[in-house]
Amino acid sequence: MGIKKSKFVRVKCPDCENTQIIFDHASTTVKCLVCGRTLSEPTGGRSKVKAEVVEILE
Ligand SMILES: [Zn+2]
Repeated sequence: MGIKKSKFVRVKCPDCENTQIIFDHASTTVKCLVCGRTLSEPTGGRSKVKAEVVEILE
């Protein structure tokens, strides 16, 4: 449809293997809830995800 869809993705923290769901267009830095590692950084559009994406939720 030509519309950019926002998505939620499940990511796995590379440090502690915690998995959590993040928004892929988050406007703020997202950190691991367990160890505090940065999982995603805002870029003005799609977030730069710095963790392993294990599932895409649409
Ligand atoms: Zn972690």
